[in-house]
Amino acid sequence: MQENNKRRIYADNAATTPVLPEVVEAMLPIFYDNWGNPSSLHEEGRRAARTLETARATAAGVLGCQPEELYFTSCGTESDNWAIKGAAYAAKGRRNKIITSKIEHHAVLSTCEALEKEGFEVKYIGVDQDGLLDLDELRREVDDKTAIVAIILANNEIGTIQPISEIAEIAHKAGALCFTDAVQAVGSIPVDAKELGVDMLSLSGHKFGAPKGIGALYIKKGVRIKNLIDGGGHERGRRSGTENLPYIVGLARALEIAQERMGDMRRVAALRDRLIEGLLSIPHSRLNGHPTKRLPGNVNVSFEYVEGESMVLWLDKMGIAASTGSACSSKSLDPSHVLLAIGLPVEMAHGSLRFSLSHANTEEDVEYIIAATREVVEKLRRMSPIYPGA
Ligand SMILES: *Cc1c(COP(=O)(O)O)cnc(C)c1O
Repeated sequence: MQENNKRRIYADNAATTPVLPEVVEAMLPIFYDNWGNPSSLHEEGRRAARTLETARATAAGVLGCQPEELYFTSCGTESDNWAIKGAAYAAKGRRNKIITSKIEHHAVLSTCEALEKEGFEVKYIGVDQDGLLDLDELRREVDDKTAIVAIILANNEIGTIQPISEIAEIAHKAGALCFTDAVQAVGSIPVDAKELGVDMLSLSGHKFGAPKGIGALYIKKGVRIKNLIDGGGHERGRRSGTENLPYIVGLARALEIAQERMGDMRRVAALRDRLIEGLLSIPHSRLNGHPTKRLPGNVNVSFEYVEGESMVLWLDKMGIAASTGSACSSKSLDPSHVLLAIGLPVEMAHGSLRFSLSHANTEEDVEYIIAATREVVEKLRRMSPIYPGA
């Protein structure tokens, strides 16, 4: 296997995706000749406003909600912050409890930790060995003091998909709101806000072929939360700041394309299953996350006696872009909180590798990834003083 191979295999789509050419095509005319401010009364402004509302209607159509229920934000992180802080502040004094899980993205975990410092009570519900939420624990914890239940729809590290409708039902029985971080799910699996039964749902453009720096929050009609960003009263007075029209158009176009290509996700899931099978044929390995209730592109495998970071760097040399789990924590040496939550021993959590596939990947890619990973794992194990042999 050549290390100077020019061909790159991108298998880190959970961290970010390339902007689709069709999305760039849809965005360019907005920069060139539809650059008006949607709040302006003149022709340029009215034209921009029409484009904005068309994009909102398109996006809402894909997400199964009304256009008035969709608010554009600057990213997934902002949407997560807004949903949770907005709900907590709106309920302050009446309901001071927030319920979330041990496997949330840092955009949710750090938000909850910040609220904890402000005096809110936060419960972190555990998961089983496959990463599925402990619904009994959830039922025990949700009470009439709970403002919001915030649970990730599909996990960014291990790909496990939660039974969100059931979780929403449990929250609603106690009069609490239910929010789901659907950033990894949107674009990869069908996501219908109404069908899920949640009150709020977050998404981020760069996880499905739109640029970085654009996101949205679905807020069900009638749900009242506090604003996070005040100003000129954009987005029906709930999220100020002049709308990023080119990116909003790009997000809507990317959602349409994702919906058109949803059928091809079965092929991606077949690639995922072949990759899992190939990686598990390497000795001392295990799959992390649910075997079937998982994102079609997500593969997360731990190898004993090797470090995830070393594997990522060696694979990179061989032309493969992979990750140890979450791009956000890859610079810290703490083991992943998600892998610890599913009960992995610290050594195994350190030896984890995540591949996240997309439509762009092929069977050839997968066979090359399997061969390269086998080579890298064997090389690193030969150098390990603790490796007992296959
Ligand atoms: C990427 C991601 C986010 C953050 O979205 P940004 O647009 O990058 O801020 C939040 N939650 C999950 C599950 C993610 O994968």
